[in-house]
Amino acid sequence: MHNRTASRRKVELVDSCLEDRKQEKDKEKKKFERRLVKYDDLPEYLRDNEFILDYYRCEWPLKDVFLSVFSWHNETLNIWTHLVGFLIFVGLMVMSSMGEQLGGLITNVSRARVSGQLMTPMIKDFNGSDHDIFPDSQLRHISHQSDFQVQEVNGYEVIPKWPWFVFLSGAMGCLVCSSLSHLLACHSKRFNLFFWRLDYAGISLMIVCSFFAPIYYTFYCNPYSRLFYLTFITVVGILAIITLLAPALSSPRFRSFRATLFLTMGFSGVVPAAHAVVLHWGHPHVFISLSYELVMGFLYAAGAAFYTSRIPERWKPGTFDIVGHSHQIFHVFVVLAAIVHSVATLIIMDFRQGSPTCV
Ligand SMILES: [Zn+2]
Repeated sequence: MHNRTASRRKVELVDSCLEDRKQEKDKEKKKFERRLVKYDDLPEYLRDNEFILDYYRCEWPLKDVFLSVFSWHNETLNIWTHLVGFLIFVGLMVMSSMGEQLGGLITNVSRARVSGQLMTPMIKDFNGSDHDIFPDSQLRHISHQSDFQVQEVNGYEVIPKWPWFVFLSGAMGCLVCSSLSHLLACHSKRFNLFFWRLDYAGISLMIVCSFFAPIYYTFYCNPYSRLFYLTFITVVGILAIITLLAPALSSPRFRSFRATLFLTMGFSGVVPAAHAVVLHWGHPHVFISLSYELVMGFLYAAGAAFYTSRIPERWKPGTFDIVGHSHQIFHVFVVLAAIVHSVATLIIMDFRQGSPTCV
């Protein structure tokens, strides 16, 4: 009897020892799973940029991948740059939904003001002071229109807002897809393929959506041109999305191809822009808006240059793993370009809001 109790105790002791060891092993395994690894230790499908040498998350469990949004690795700033951009556009969306005056959405673009009989468009700079952007002499020829414009505004003739919301939704969709891709693509091969394609589709979507508002408001009174340009960019966008969904095009080899495709889509806006200049010759809003669009084009091009060249990390591999590598710079340029495009769009909406109805 005594013997049997002793042997049972022995078995229990061995069991608990085994359990402890198992738990320790599990803990060790978990620690190993959440370890940041070097480029050389990555499986082929996770190797994208050979100049970023370390701090990779590799096939972590989903829960840890989600939590890694709050820890440092080489994708942290890629995730946050676009997450902050997403939040900025959520803010714009909320403000747009609540505000009645379209022109009052962004503080640095104020509605045209009426001073006596003369309308004087003003642009507020960032420290709040007003500057006349057009000398009076340039405006005298539209002063008669101005009275009419004010009446139209006072008469609450409101232009449709939906193209503006299309742009905001596109920007939000693109930025959130990008953040999610950078967060989750390291989880598995399946995730990697899915999320990078989603990311490229998101970029195409944002480019297409960016075209909607300026074309809609610029060609508000030219329905055929409006329909033509909107159809054209939609078809190009759909073709681009279909092309980018081909798994082979997600590989690093096609980095330049993807950048070229996005830039071509973006720069196809030159044609409607030139048309707009001819159509609205002498309307200062259109020129100001187009100069903002030029700045946007420059920002996108600069971002694409960083994206394809992989500068600065190619100069000093390993130095910019966590902070300062080309993809982060590209992300910042994308957000800045989208903000500049918002300003350009608000100016053209302001112009359309203040213009006489199509006669
Ligand atoms: Zn990205």
